[in-house]
Amino acid sequence: RFSTAAVAEEPITPPVQIDHTQLLINGEFVDSASGKTFPTYDPRTGEVIAQVAEGHAEDINRAVSAARKAFDEGPWPKMTAYERSRILLRFADLVEKHSNEIAALETWNNGKPYEQAAMAELPMLVRLFHYYAGWADKIHGLTCPADGPYHVQTLHEPIGVAGQIIPWNFPLLMFAWKVGPALACGNTIVLKTAEQTPLTALYVAKLFHEAGLPPGVLNIVSGFGPTAGAALASHMDVDKLAFTGSTDTGKIVLELAAKSNLKPVTLELGGKSPFIICEDADIDNAVELAHFALFFNQGQCCCAGSRTFVHERIYDEFLEKAKARAMKRVVGDPFKKGVEQGPQIDSEQFEKVLRYIRSGIESNATLECGGGRLGSKGFYIQPTVFSNVQDDMLIAQDEIFGPVQSILKFNDIGDVIKRANATRYGLAAGVFTSNLDTANTISRALKAGTVWVNCFDVFDAAIPFGGYKMSGIGREKGIYSLNNYLQVKAVVTPLKNPAW
Ligand code: NAD
Repeated sequence: RFSTAAVAEEPITPPVQIDHTQLLINGEFVDSASGKTFPTYDPRTGEVIAQVAEGHAEDINRAVSAARKAFDEGPWPKMTAYERSRILLRFADLVEKHSNEIAALETWNNGKPYEQAAMAELPMLVRLFHYYAGWADKIHGLTCPADGPYHVQTLHEPIGVAGQIIPWNFPLLMFAWKVGPALACGNTIVLKTAEQTPLTALYVAKLFHEAGLPPGVLNIVSGFGPTAGAALASHMDVDKLAFTGSTDTGKIVLELAAKSNLKPVTLELGGKSPFIICEDADIDNAVELAHFALFFNQGQCCCAGSRTFVHERIYDEFLEKAKARAMKRVVGDPFKKGVEQGPQIDSEQFEKVLRYIRSGIESNATLECGGGRLGSKGFYIQPTVFSNVQDDMLIAQDEIFGPVQSILKFNDIGDVIKRANATRYGLAAGVFTSNLDTANTISRALKAGTVWVNCFDVFDAAIPFGGYKMSGIGREKGIYSLNNYLQVKAVVTPLKNPAW
């Protein structure tokens, strides 16, 4: 009824073939021990595109043994840091060479617009591996002054076998954020992909081996959370766990890690990020940015600007323009040129988003546009805008993870800061203003791991990312991620003749 864009009638044939659907253990593609497989789908149609080997606890055991052997005996930790750095660089070059096929596979399995995958995500993946290749040979300890005749030095050593569990919304970027720093620090890895998007990690892992990565250093197990994921989180021989996903699952894996071998855990979890548009904002730019902050990646971003707070003096004009922008959003087959929004990932997320839309309507928020599915095939949802949203409504509190913008009114900066912080999450936030003091005051007051001022979703390999409160523990990317994958050993030696 509202959206001007249409779903492509006939899906375009993806320009790529699927070569790898088995588990990658010890440098070889192998079937799961049980021989079981599970289907993976094309979100444009809901049709099965491949059967993928389904890993269970036994496969996690095999993968952890391979990673342990590669860490304890393999050439990996014995290589010079420079050699490891060269492998990361060669891998990045191979990804760049194959980036069109990889982006096509990502779009096919995830539904995100091909243009975004090819022009934004693949270059970010390449850049991230270049960045961490640069760190590999710059990791070193300190000498420490001590009260007494001691020579004290710290050694920064890899932790060992890292277990990594990633979600489906950015399959390749999440792979990069986890694998890049872990390998730069000299660890070995068992990575479990999300059950919805197992394909691209297998593709790029093969390139890693072409780049010279020794067998067993990077193992990939496809499978489900409560089976393969839980087995990895609770494994006694995994030395560190890094998880990205929902807050509920984050709590589960933290408990599994604590109850097994107390492995350290980093968590990147959900969010309900505020985006505060002040009265002095340039309205057209603010509308475009707030639209991007929420709708990017079909609204499936942990840091989505999902509470758009607009000052009352510009509220009406902002709302009219935000609605017009959403109605112009081009939704359709993600392989088509110019498409801004593809389908949601699967029927479960699709139904969940539609339930939240119904909840918004029932709680008397005003539905400005959208509100339903688009087309009759696949998991497309109309870009949806609600106005008159109140803080206590479910759509203003829960992570919807879909193309649903909630617009809220405010009239006082102090008050909106309190409202923005009144959430269990603290992943990211945005502020739009032309006043430097307002920007600085709000940025300092917001309880969030990232504050974007007059911009949103600016990601860079060097910029740390992570959450306050129930949005997570620890930071990924930048120099901060290295600490997640290093042990610090203090070596203390008495000096026999300190007077010399
Ligand atoms: P999810 O928590 O359901 O799944 C994430 C991963 O955890 C998947 O690989 C899944 O198989 C695994 N898993 C599920 N149950 C498990 C269990 N019992 N034990 C071990 N592993 C288990 O989340 P999702 O729906 O796939 O992803 C969406 C969520 O991820 C959103 O809440 C989003 O905000 C969050 N996310 C956060 C970030 C970030 O950086 N903070 C980035 C992307 C996504």
